[in-house]
Amino acid sequence: MSIWTDIQRRSAGDIVRKEDSFIYTKASPSVPDLDGETDKLLREVDAFTGYPPFIPGDIHEKVQVVLKESETRDVTVTLDQLNKELSRLEDELEKMKKAGADQEELGEILEKISLLKKIIASCIKAGKTVFTFNVELLGKYVREKDGTPKGRPTIYLMWGTLKTKPNPTALTAIVYVHELMHAYFDMHEDEGGMDYIPHPDIPEIEEPLAEFGMLFFMEMFDRTHPEYELLIEAKTHVKRKKSILGICHYGFGYHLFEDRKTFCVDWVDLFHRSCLCIDESGNDVIDYKSMISPISYPFHEYTCETILFKILRPKRFYFIKEVVGSSRSATKISCPAGTIDRIDISIWEEVCNNKQFQKDYLYLLPMDVVITFLERKGCRIKGNAKIYRRDPKGARIYIESDKDLLSQYAASFKGKVHFLLYEDKPADGPKPAEWIAKMIRLYDYSR
Ligand SMILES: [Zn+2]
Repeated sequence: MSIWTDIQRRSAGDIVRKEDSFIYTKASPSVPDLDGETDKLLREVDAFTGYPPFIPGDIHEKVQVVLKESETRDVTVTLDQLNKELSRLEDELEKMKKAGADQEELGEILEKISLLKKIIASCIKAGKTVFTFNVELLGKYVREKDGTPKGRPTIYLMWGTLKTKPNPTALTAIVYVHELMHAYFDMHEDEGGMDYIPHPDIPEIEEPLAEFGMLFFMEMFDRTHPEYELLIEAKTHVKRKKSILGICHYGFGYHLFEDRKTFCVDWVDLFHRSCLCIDESGNDVIDYKSMISPISYPFHEYTCETILFKILRPKRFYFIKEVVGSSRSATKISCPAGTIDRIDISIWEEVCNNKQFQKDYLYLLPMDVVITFLERKGCRIKGNAKIYRRDPKGARIYIESDKDLLSQYAASFKGKVHFLLYEDKPADGPKPAEWIAKMIRLYDYSR
């Protein structure tokens, strides 16, 4: 019995038990206790220090796995990118000729070049500046329900497609772990552990990091199970994407993995911790996106890596709070000329007890800070403020601001608003510290 019919049998419909997706256990049908074997795998995974959240009862308990026949996704590239890809292929062809490549290899690249030329010509003829093509998905991670992100975290495996590929067993494991990385990035809740906070959707950042995490995971897996040769398979899988039009940002994960010992080994955790704090409309994100965009990045991977680190650089603390003007109702913050008003914020005990926070803030308050209020559409208000401690334990602080900041705040943010507050830059010499207050929405997906 193949593993595919086995999965189909156990699925009893479309939904399978999530551990069925850990194909590796199924690759060995002689194992009598599949569940026991899965547990063993998960225990080993747990022992991998880099991924404390990957434990049974955490992500694996939350994620459901659905098998789907197939699905395609539209990928749009610009005419400029098509032209760049054409010259890249032509360069490659020259190099291959010099290196004495055989007729078959040359034929493959010539075929790509002629197809690309036809596409470019048809775009020019139709006056189009972009070209859209279909990519066959192998898997996807979603949490949607009725168009909102309120659903249960779900991984789709396109097994109708997967089973037609070479080495489907290894590939399914690779795709599943990649999707698990997305699930891990998506586990953000408010302080009560009830409200789900959606993280920003920036595929240019998230996809290479999911590939990086998958490779890292496979490396650890490979140490205990070298016989499956999953790492080498996974590396080939990601490296290939470096030169595929429209998805080459995935391939950047290969560079991050190869360079991990010299640059950063914690990309996955770094992204998970800081992804709510990413300034999506900031210059770094814009620079990174334009550099990582299809085709151009392979020539400056190191620059992309350093910008990415800057975007994700560790924030020393963050907390989520409903922010209201304290003296009046939130909808009516008004600041008569020359007066100051307050924004009242209570903070997590965890943050109050944070040694760095105490050292820099609680003991030194009142303190000058620069606060930037930021909302998703890019509206920014920046101003000077002073933070004060309001109770002895420092569980509440308030921010007094000049009238400009407060009146702009009142004009831009109506009603009670949830902000994620984090320290963007610690105070440096006489300079005030910088705080970012980023507007977020809370969803309750448990209802
Ligand atoms: Zn992905």
